[in-house]
Amino acid sequence: MSAPFRSYVLISREQIARNYRNVRAVVGPQVEVAGVVKADAYGHGALEVSRVLVAEGAKWLTVSSVDEGVHLRLGGIHQTRILVMGGFLPFEGDALVEYDLTPAIHSLDQIRQVDRLAHNSGTPIRYHLKIDSGMGRLGTRASADEILATLAETRHAQLEGLMTHFASAADYTTTQTADQLACFHSICEAIRQAGVAVTHLHTSSTIAIGYGRTEGWHTMVRAGHALYGYVSPARGPAPVQLLDVKPALTWKARLLAVKEIPEGALVGYGGTFRAHRPMRIGILGAGYADGIFHRLSNRGKVIADGKVTPIIGTISMDLTTIDLSHTTALGPGDEVTLLGAEGDVRLDAQQIARTAGTISYNILCSIGARVRRVYV
Ligand SMILES: *Cc1c(COP(=O)(O)O)cnc(C)c1O
Repeated sequence: MSAPFRSYVLISREQIARNYRNVRAVVGPQVEVAGVVKADAYGHGALEVSRVLVAEGAKWLTVSSVDEGVHLRLGGIHQTRILVMGGFLPFEGDALVEYDLTPAIHSLDQIRQVDRLAHNSGTPIRYHLKIDSGMGRLGTRASADEILATLAETRHAQLEGLMTHFASAADYTTTQTADQLACFHSICEAIRQAGVAVTHLHTSSTIAIGYGRTEGWHTMVRAGHALYGYVSPARGPAPVQLLDVKPALTWKARLLAVKEIPEGALVGYGGTFRAHRPMRIGILGAGYADGIFHRLSNRGKVIADGKVTPIIGTISMDLTTIDLSHTTALGPGDEVTLLGAEGDVRLDAQQIARTAGTISYNILCSIGARVRRVYV
């Protein structure tokens, strides 16, 4: 499959569906799987991915911002609940109501805000309260008593879920995740004992699903990376990984030119690459503006004519130069693989991330807006 664009990604809907089904199979029928489609579904296209998940029967999607939630509703995603994990700011309150989005709330003051919003709009807004159990990012650090006192004075909005997020789920050399769960459970228990019924408890994302932290699965998990085919490696004595997911995205770029350069020739800005022998080089029509990390200059690799070959010289905004000395088969207009597989040769976001000094999430989310998304 090939498409008439300089740089494009091929996204397999079927692979995303398979990954989603695999997550569901791993957590079992008692646990809801919320599909995380924030950040344009990690570069895969939030609307397309949401449609796939809806077709697979997903009841929940999660996004980061109200804006992302509105985008899904306007794109025709009406069948699912949408949890806005980044909560809302005052100017976003009306959109929350109008588009039936469910906010994650991270402070007692925000419970009062959402309660006023519910009262003023005459809509019984449901919300999920995020607990800061030790991540030290979003989430309330209030005690169960303080939360209960606030619930008692806010009768219009409805507490539907309690959630938290793990800081070190992949790290089996620390007790941080167990400590976070203990904190979360003590708050949930106190709220339950006070007679407040909460439908959803959720704490786990891909890593806590993959490595089987079943005590963190509760009634719902939030799966992002796994849907796109990745589970980050664990540290320390981790149990076996349960998920069987595969990347759904292949990233291609086309050659604009192929040429021979003599020994001693310099390549690219700053002359950071010098040919130690006569070489054949290819110039790709994609650069850092497309999401190829500048850090991959003289470091990264691509797959060309079935072989892994180096990126040479400095990556430019719109152009990247590669070594094509191993092949005469490629010419202008032919494509190479920036991420994906040719035959048995693979290059995935985790490998690219290691070379670029970042994480696989960062690689996927950085694929530029001008890289065309093609669905197969
Ligand atoms: C992004 C995010 C997730 C999804 O994490 P993955 O590791 O991609 O599965 C879950 N919960 C929260 C709060 C997030 O921000």
